[in-house]
Amino acid sequence: RNPPPTLYQPELWSDHFNDFICKCLIKDFELRPNVLDLLQHVFIRQIVGRERILQKQLMELIDLNQQIGTTGKTRYRHDLKRPHIALLDDLVTLEVLDEVRDSIEQLQRRYAKDQIYTYVGDILIAVNPFHKMELYSPQYTKMYIGAKRTANPPHIFAVADIAYQSMVSYNADQCIVISGESGAGKTESAHLLVEQLTVLGKANNRSLQEKILLVNNLVEAFGNACTAINDNSSRFGKYLEMKFTCGGTVVGAQISEYLLEKSRVVHQATGEKNFHIFYYIYAGLAERKKLAHYKLSDSKTPKYLFNEHIKLGPDIVNNTFYKEQFDSVEQCFKVIGFTLEVHTLYVYSTLAAILNSGDIEFTSVASEHQTDKSNISNIAVLENAALLLCIRPDELQEALTSHCVVARGETIVRPNTVDKATEVRDAMGKALYGRLFSWIVNRINTLEDDKGLNIGILDIFGFENFKRNSFEQLCINIANEQIQFYFNQHIFAWEQDEYLNEDVDARVIEYEDNRPLLDLFLQKPMGMLSLLDEESRFPQATDQTLVEKFEDNLKSKNFWRPKRVDLGFGIHHYAGKVIYNAAGFLSKNRDTLPADIVLLLRSSENQLIRKLVTHPLTKTGKHTWSNSNSGDTGTGETTHHPRESTNMRTQTVASYFRYSLMDLLSKMVAGQPHFVRCIKPNNDRQASKFDREKVLVQLRYTGVLETAKIRRQGYSHRILYTNFVNRYYILAFHAHKEPDASPETCAAILEKTKLENWVLGKTKVFLKYYHVETLNLMVRQT
Ligand code: ATP
Ligand code: MG
Repeated sequence: RNPPPTLYQPELWSDHFNDFICKCLIKDFELRPNVLDLLQHVFIRQIVGRERILQKQLMELIDLNQQIGTTGKTRYRHDLKRPHIALLDDLVTLEVLDEVRDSIEQLQRRYAKDQIYTYVGDILIAVNPFHKMELYSPQYTKMYIGAKRTANPPHIFAVADIAYQSMVSYNADQCIVISGESGAGKTESAHLLVEQLTVLGKANNRSLQEKILLVNNLVEAFGNACTAINDNSSRFGKYLEMKFTCGGTVVGAQISEYLLEKSRVVHQATGEKNFHIFYYIYAGLAERKKLAHYKLSDSKTPKYLFNEHIKLGPDIVNNTFYKEQFDSVEQCFKVIGFTLEVHTLYVYSTLAAILNSGDIEFTSVASEHQTDKSNISNIAVLENAALLLCIRPDELQEALTSHCVVARGETIVRPNTVDKATEVRDAMGKALYGRLFSWIVNRINTLEDDKGLNIGILDIFGFENFKRNSFEQLCINIANEQIQFYFNQHIFAWEQDEYLNEDVDARVIEYEDNRPLLDLFLQKPMGMLSLLDEESRFPQATDQTLVEKFEDNLKSKNFWRPKRVDLGFGIHHYAGKVIYNAAGFLSKNRDTLPADIVLLLRSSENQLIRKLVTHPLTKTGKHTWSNSNSGDTGTGETTHHPRESTNMRTQTVASYFRYSLMDLLSKMVAGQPHFVRCIKPNNDRQASKFDREKVLVQLRYTGVLETAKIRRQGYSHRILYTNFVNRYYILAFHAHKEPDASPETCAAILEKTKLENWVLGKTKVFLKYYHVETLNLMVRQT
C-alpha cells in the first residue's frame, strides 16, 4: 500500500503502522515534510509507550531523510519552516528513557544541528550554543505567538507564549523559573523571555517597552561581572515581574534583587573582575575628560580594579567596549528619569568614592603603649575620597583608624590596627555599593499599581562548586537547593499526592527528595543558618568554634568534616558534593558597617550618600517604586544621637537571606510555574562542543530524566470539574447554556474533542501536559 490508506487517519495507525514503516525503510524514502509532520504528531500522541521498535525505526527514517535532504540528493525539499523535524522535539516521546544514553544522544544530535531547544514535556531544555543564533528574528517572534506548541520546533519564545496565554486564559499569575549552572545561559534566556513578553503584551507605548529592556541592562551593569566561568556572570539573584492588565497588556515591570555578592567590590579572585559598572564609568568619564573631576587617574588603576588583565589605567580608558557601555548606561539613566545634575553625578561620585577609598593605605605605627595603631600613609588619597563622599577628611581618617566603644556608660576611643582599619575601609566600600545597587533597583521599578496580573521570571545564580567555596557559595547553593525543592514539589510530589487523593491509577515515580538538605540548612533552631547566627552573636566566637558547632549539632549524612582541611566542612548537595571553607564566615555573616562610619556618612553633603546610610535599608529585597520622577533623593531622614547608633543592631546576612528566600518562594508559589533548564555543553565556552559527561551530570542532578518519565506516565494538569466545564463547555455545548459541572459533562466535552488518555478523578479532570494546550487552542478558535 503506497501510501497506506490509514495515513490520514492517524487513529488507526497503530495497526498499519508497522507495514508502513517497513515499506518506507526498505525502499521508499519519499516522505514529504507534511507527512513527516504528521508522523511526528501522531508519534507524540499515540506511539508513546507502545511501539518502541517502531519509534526507533521512525527516528532513523526521519534522520536519514534529513541527511539525504542536506546532501542534495533528495527528491523532496525540506519545509523551511520546520528545519528541526528530524529529531525528537520532546524527550518524553523517547521510549527508552532509562537509558540515559538515548536522551543525551538526542540532545547531542540536535545540538549538532543547532537545535538547542528540546522539550521534556512542558519543561524546556536549552543547551547553550555559545554562538549567535538566527533564532530570534521578528519572523520567529511572530511564528510563536498563539501557536500550537507542536506546530513549531521547541523554543524559548514558546515558553513565553504558554505563560502569557495561561495568564490571560486563567486570569492567573505565572512564574518562569530558569535554572542552570553559571554560564549555562539563564540570563540570555531571561532576556529573550522579556523581549517576547513585551511583544505579546502589546506594549503600546514604545517607551515602556524600551524602558523594560533598558532597565534589565542597567541592573546588569551594576550586578554582573566577569568571572572565571562567565564574562557576564550575574552576581545577584533577579526576580523580574512583568505586570499586565487583566486584558493582557503589559503596563510595567518590577525587579527584586537577592544577595548581591558585595565582596567582589573589594576583592576578586584570580582571573575575575569587579562589577562591570566600574569599568564603564571609568572609560566613559575618561572619554569626557572628567576623570580628574572624580579624582581618578588615566594612568593608574585603582586597587579595587587592579588584576592580572588590567594592570594599567589605559587598559580601561582605551577600551571602546566599556565606552559604548557607558553611553548605554547614561541612556538608561535618562530613560528612567534620572536627571544629569542630581542623580547621575551623585551615582558617579559614589562609585568614584568607593574606588578612591580602596586606595587608602595604612601603616602600622608603634606607640609607647600600643604597638598596633594605624596611620594613613597617603593622605592625598584620603582627601579625595572624603571630597567625593562630601565629608570631612579628618573625620574620615578618625573613623577609619579608630573606633568608639561604650563601656560603663562612657564612650572610649580605641585605635584600629592596620588589619582592622583595612577591614573598616572595605566594609564601607561594600556597604556603599550594596546600598547603591538596591537604591538603583528601587528607582527603576516602573510599577504603577499592584493590581492586574504578572509573569515573574527568576534568573538566579546557579549551583557553584569552586576550588575554594566560601559563605557566598553556601548561600547560592542553599538558594538552588530551595528552587530544586520547589521544582520537585511541582513536578513530582503534588502530582502524586493528587493521584492518591483522587483515586487515579498512575505509576509512582522515584525521585531524589532534597528535603533533608533544606532541613539541614534552614531548620530552626538547629539548622546551619540558625547555628551560624547564634555563633555570630558571641563576640568571642571564631570561625573555628563555628565549624565545631556545626559538627556537634548537625546530625546528617549530608554533612561531614573532611580530614586535613582546617575550617573545612562538606555538604552533599542535590547537585553534588561541595567542600566549604568557613574562614571569614562569621564576619561575612555579621556584615557590620561600624557605627562611626555610619554616623560620619550621615553627615555627608551628598544627599544620595546620606540616603544610603540613613534607613537601615528595608531589607526585604523588594522595592516598590511609583513611576513619578519626584527627584527625591534625600528627604525624610532623622538625626540620630550617636549613642543610639553605636548600639545599632543589624540583621545578619543569614537571617536576611532566609527572609528573602521565603519572600521569593511565596511569590513563586503564588503563580503557575514554567521551567526552563539551561544546560552548559562544555567548560570552554566553545560552540559546537558537546561534552556528554558534563551534560549527563546536569541532566542527572536536575532530575530531567525523571521528569520525562513522570510527564509520560502522569497527568500534569488537574482541573476541578467546575473550572473545566466553565472553561471548555463551549467545545461541546451551546454557548448560552453552561451545563452541570458533572463528570459526565467533562467526559462529553473530552470525547467531543477526540483527545485521548485523559482520566476523571473524584473531583478533577486529569490531563496530560499536551491536552491543555490543544483545548485552549480549540476554545480560541470557536
Ligand atoms: P551566571 O549564572 O554566571 O549568571 P548564566 O546562566 O546567566 O550564568 P549567561 O550569561 O546567560 O549565563 O550566558 C553565558 C554566555 O553564553 C552568554 O554571554 C552568551 O555568550 C552565551 N549564550 C547563552 N545563551 C545563548 C543563546 N541563546 N544564544 C547565543 N549565546 C548564548
Ligand atoms: Mg546570569
